[in-house]
Amino acid sequence: MNNYAFDLNTDIMYLKGVGPRRAAALNHMNIFNFYDFLTHYPRAYEDEREVTPMNKLVVDETAIVVGHLSNITFREVRSNLKIINAILEDETDYIQVTWFNQDYLKKKLSNGMKLLVKGKVSEAFGSNRLLSITVQAFDILGEEEHPNLGIFPVYPSTATLNQKFFRTTMRGLLERLPKMKEILPKNIIAEHELIPYDEAIRSIHFPQSRQDISEARHRLAFNELFLIQYGLMLIKKETQEEELGITHKPNGKLVQSVLESLPFELTGDQQNVFEEVIQDMEDSAPMRRLIQGDVGSGKTVVAMLALVKTVENGYQGIFMAPTEILAVQHYEKFLKILEPLGVRVGLLSAQVTRTKKRREEAYEKIANQEFDIVIGTHALIEEGVQFKRLGLVITDEQHRFGVVQRAKLERKTDLSPDILVMTATPIPRTMTLTVYGDLDVSQIKELPPGRKPIQTVVRHKAGRKQIYNFVRKELAAGRQAYVVCPLIERSESEKLQQVSSAEEIFEELSKKTFKDFNCALLHGKLKPKEKDEIMEDFRNNRINLLVSTTVVEVGVDVPNASVMVIEHAERFGLATLHQLRGRVGRGSEKSYCILISDTKSDISKARLEIMETVSDGFKLAEEDLQLRGPGQFFGEAQHGLPDLKIADIFRDVDILIKARNAAEAFVQKENNADEITLLNESLSTAYGNKFKQIVDI
Ligand code: ADP
Ligand code: MG
Repeated sequence: MNNYAFDLNTDIMYLKGVGPRRAAALNHMNIFNFYDFLTHYPRAYEDEREVTPMNKLVVDETAIVVGHLSNITFREVRSNLKIINAILEDETDYIQVTWFNQDYLKKKLSNGMKLLVKGKVSEAFGSNRLLSITVQAFDILGEEEHPNLGIFPVYPSTATLNQKFFRTTMRGLLERLPKMKEILPKNIIAEHELIPYDEAIRSIHFPQSRQDISEARHRLAFNELFLIQYGLMLIKKETQEEELGITHKPNGKLVQSVLESLPFELTGDQQNVFEEVIQDMEDSAPMRRLIQGDVGSGKTVVAMLALVKTVENGYQGIFMAPTEILAVQHYEKFLKILEPLGVRVGLLSAQVTRTKKRREEAYEKIANQEFDIVIGTHALIEEGVQFKRLGLVITDEQHRFGVVQRAKLERKTDLSPDILVMTATPIPRTMTLTVYGDLDVSQIKELPPGRKPIQTVVRHKAGRKQIYNFVRKELAAGRQAYVVCPLIERSESEKLQQVSSAEEIFEELSKKTFKDFNCALLHGKLKPKEKDEIMEDFRNNRINLLVSTTVVEVGVDVPNASVMVIEHAERFGLATLHQLRGRVGRGSEKSYCILISDTKSDISKARLEIMETVSDGFKLAEEDLQLRGPGQFFGEAQHGLPDLKIADIFRDVDILIKARNAAEAFVQKENNADEITLLNESLSTAYGNKFKQIVDI
């Protein structure tokens, strides 16, 4: 019998115990077919294996006892406090059992009955001899009946779909489920000492022991991570084999002149990463590379060099930034260096596409290859944009630019362009393996020389006056400062929480504290044009102090700014604080980051104090993920990959690495056709045509 005679893709409506109504409720939980139900794994277990003899009960522990009932009494203390008391006796001792507010039980309970009772043990009221159990659950047993003991699954459930429903229905499904065929190749199972798939799927729901649970979990987590990695490897293999990429020539004069016109030497890491990029580009397979580097580590220069390399080979390159401000900033920097060398750089962002005339002009120049390099926002991958010879695509801080978007872009051209993804978000290695499983990873760890460490301090808001005095000194010395707040304006509920808004702080600072300086307010609700003007003025030192929300978070580069003050710092994640801090310390002056907070929470305090001592973004990210959990990184919306059902990105790091290696090895060798068919069927049962879609787009 194989897995597919019993079709796991059958609509959940046809599962025994489920009808149209329950099916609708299950659909809300993202359960649509038998397979989804079967992989609705328990979130915990109740261990109800042992009956404790009454003379062995321990106060404050939860226990299960079995005995005979006597002395049933009923008391109504108040209308909302009704108590049933009774004595329960086994061969070793007797205890008191108590039910609160369940007077309907009066009719059900009778003296002499045999009962299994579960509940917490305490001393009976007013007695240091008699123990008592407050009943959480009980079963009436026949005189000869043995209690039904075991480890019971606890499922994610809802008001309409309760534990009892899931337990009963799951048991029914497992009883009718034919023996599941192995889905992983034999040698992988042997090498990783995995228990059989069929056993795992049964044990995860109804284990006999703790050991069962851990073995089943291990097997299923391996399965899950293996399948995702396998799916990603297929994509990678496909792009490498079928789409022939561009084979760039070795570096020529143009790249050389750009290197020479840079006002600095590349750092060792920049050189190494550029080397890796060069190799990818000169190879016939399309480049698929991720560059990770902390804020200010100099990724942009590497991006520029790669773009110039593609231009030198007669192709066009695009550079996609997450915001308008950043696109414009990159554009200006690129112009300065590249225009004198005859490279034609264009901009495609909202300020260009807003007017029909400018937009069509830009589209035309892109289509006719009158622009060699185009810098822009998401506008770059919109419908109307057509490239003549797209050779290289670089994305900066585009976490939403996942596998799917990459594929979409590839559709815009017959050639398969090289792709370079850049991020300052220090994604831990385990996450890059999963989220960017189809990319090769390069890291820039070293910062350009001469950077002074940014001194970071956490201050209570009571110390604001001293903080502002300090800021004043910096401004008076010709430097600039940022003050960042979590909110633009306050809602009613936030007024109660005494959170100051950017608007309020701006009022106070611009009209009082710093009225002799030029202050400005920057936030996401401003029109793009207004934002651009403010940033332009700040860059040119026409604005001394900028009050802002987190719109300044990524990439803004104003080397003269030396102070970053962050209000309500506890409201930000460490990664965000680190990004914000990276806005200063970009010039030759010593820089400061002042975190203002009046949090009383110990965890929040501990997190902020980490900022004082740790300046490495990767370390911070690991700590932050530990504290906040991976949810934000691992939402499907973020990267287009499926959510994990059983594996845990932290706990299962070892499994992830093993599964990835196994998947990689499997894809690279010649395989037996049956094994491939089986794996592909499993991939499609688990993820529909998600991976196929990604490949086929
Ligand atoms: P990232 O994009 O990684 O945040 P940038 O490329 O914007 O960093 O570089 C940050 C700053 O450091 C820029 O002002 C850039 O000109 C400068 N920079 C980059 N590489 C070097 C280097 N090798 N030596 C000195 N300064 C550099
Ligand atoms: Mg950058």
